[in-house]
Amino acid sequence: MYNASPERYTASTTIYNRCGRSGVLLPKVSLGFWHNFGDDAPFERSRAICRYAFDHGVTHFDFANNYGVPAGSAEANFGRLMDEDFRPYRNELFISTKAGYGMWDGPYGEWGSRKYLMSSLDQSLKRMRLDYVDLFYSHRYDPNTPIEETLQALIDIVRAGKALYVGISNWPLEPLKAGVKYLKEHDVPLLIYQGRLNMLDRAPINEGILDFTYKAGVGFIAYSPLAQGLLTDRYLNGIPADSRMAKEHFLKSERRTPELLEYLHQLEAKAKTSNRSIAQEALNWVLDQPGVTSVLVGASSVEQLKNNINTIIS
Ligand code: NDP
Repeated sequence: MYNASPERYTASTTIYNRCGRSGVLLPKVSLGFWHNFGDDAPFERSRAICRYAFDHGVTHFDFANNYGVPAGSAEANFGRLMDEDFRPYRNELFISTKAGYGMWDGPYGEWGSRKYLMSSLDQSLKRMRLDYVDLFYSHRYDPNTPIEETLQALIDIVRAGKALYVGISNWPLEPLKAGVKYLKEHDVPLLIYQGRLNMLDRAPINEGILDFTYKAGVGFIAYSPLAQGLLTDRYLNGIPADSRMAKEHFLKSERRTPELLEYLHQLEAKAKTSNRSIAQEALNWVLDQPGVTSVLVGASSVEQLKNNINTIIS
């Protein structure tokens, strides 16, 4: 039986940012379930990471339909955790999921049609054993579906009570601008944009997305803020067997170049001057960008998560 820490909102680690111009506060460090929570990960380790997060004020958990190996298993494992641990705390959690990438066979299992988005969210709710999610995202821009169809599906999902807010992830700037306008005109303002932002990949800054969301009063949550682990001490002395890079799938070993190692050594030296780890230095850099609401970290251990959460007090 899980009893959440009574200190979870009083500890100095709990710091929240307002999400754009909305009523929602999100923790500066949020937890992502892309890796480490599927059937390919030890369930009790996943449970320990979730408990540690919530016990330290991390109220925002981020999913997508296809997270975990096999796809869907991260949501399904969290559904079990909802029943076993988190049900009494449902109103204290801000849970998001997404649809956009390939989830099932046939013409209705990916992209941005109303058919796909609505069916996918129904499946996600069943897997997570929830009546509603707090936030539902379009996971990627679909150049072949009219954006009005995708956006109207998001709006209707909110009207049906299946999500409280809507989000957009990975859309280029121009469709994003049109989306913000359409959603505002239909009284379901865009809550947040989710994009990849870290010291090695500054595309949302270079492309003007962060500046646009900031000025439009839309929150911004940065995914892969540690560049999937590159911006940590994980690969300083080789490629650990249990690391993401060792799997050679989403993070290839060719990324571990002499230039990267040189960059990391410099970052480590800078981090040391303020008593930080490389990861903390990298997360602080993202959080310091004007308009960033939260960093969405992954973690394969409680130790890693602890280090990341401590960023905001270091
Ligand atoms: P990160 O950049 O935070 O990378 C997480 C990985 O870095 C961990 O799995 C771990 O690697 C390593 N790591 C984390 N903390 C530390 C630490 N303190 N010290 C050493 N190593 C550490 O984020 P992710 O790439 O995992 O993405 C985070 C979340 O963002 C996802 O779960 C998902 O919710 C979201 N996301 C959204 C996308 C979108 O298209 N909207 C795309 C990608 C992610 P290891 O496992 O090797 O130990």
